[in-house]
Amino acid sequence: MTTPGSPRGSSTGTEAELVRRAELSDALDAVRARIDRACAAAGRPVDEVDLLAVTKGHPAADVAALAKLGQSAFAESKAQEAGSKIAEVAELRPEAALRWHLVGRLQTNKARAVAAWASRVESVDSERLVDALDAAVRRAGDTGADSYPDHAARTGGRLPVLLQVSIDGDPTRGGATAEQLPALADRIAGCAGLELHGVMAIAPAAAEPDRAFATVHELAQRLRAEHPVAQVISAGMSGDLEAAIRHGSTCVRVGTALMGQRPITSG
Ligand SMILES: *Cc1c(COP(=O)(O)O)cnc(C)c1O
Repeated sequence: MTTPGSPRGSSTGTEAELVRRAELSDALDAVRARIDRACAAAGRPVDEVDLLAVTKGHPAADVAALAKLGQSAFAESKAQEAGSKIAEVAELRPEAALRWHLVGRLQTNKARAVAAWASRVESVDSERLVDALDAAVRRAGDTGADSYPDHAARTGGRLPVLLQVSIDGDPTRGGATAEQLPALADRIAGCAGLELHGVMAIAPAAAEPDRAFATVHELAQRLRAEHPVAQVISAGMSGDLEAAIRHGSTCVRVGTALMGQRPITSG
């Protein structure tokens, strides 16, 4: 913070912008501290757990502010909102190398748009979606339309994907059942455009988080046995990241605890 009358450094902006930046900075510190403590309690090295900032419902300016604070991995739950926000962020901070993950339900007709910007799609739960994403990635590769900077990180041009698992089998929340996972994993393994990096799960509101995440861990272990590159467990949100880290999560997806309540409700 600058004191009154002191020369302004790089922190230019309106009063409201400065307040928001300070808020985001405090929240980011607090979330990182929670992750540190949870890792320590679980006897796990803190670099095993990535923090994904879920920015749905929040403006591009917030993303730019978090990027300036050193956060580089972001997630959105709707393809359309993500596409326009990513373009806006690129104008605000053209120098920032950010990763964008899709964590919400994806319709097959949006697969092409998402394949153009996603560093990882975490919500894959059907054969139709596997096929649509695979086709979209291969097509982009053929036409050279694949211009998102982080795509250099895609091994062999493949888009990393996670299989979303449904813990309670409720189809309205998205996610494949435990029984559907092996066939979906094999299908992804057979795709030239995709690479299976692991699983993603949302603990059902009614479930006890420790039990839910223990189930996710068990499913992930079975998947890893068949598909050794599938090491990621994306689990844990604002309310339950400690439980997820206790059960092997390698990626927590945090929205509210970082950004505050969402002004616009979304997926
Ligand atoms: C919104 C969302 C989150 C973040 O949830 P918070 O409770 O706000 O931290 C994580 N994962 C998915 C799939 C989401 O849609």
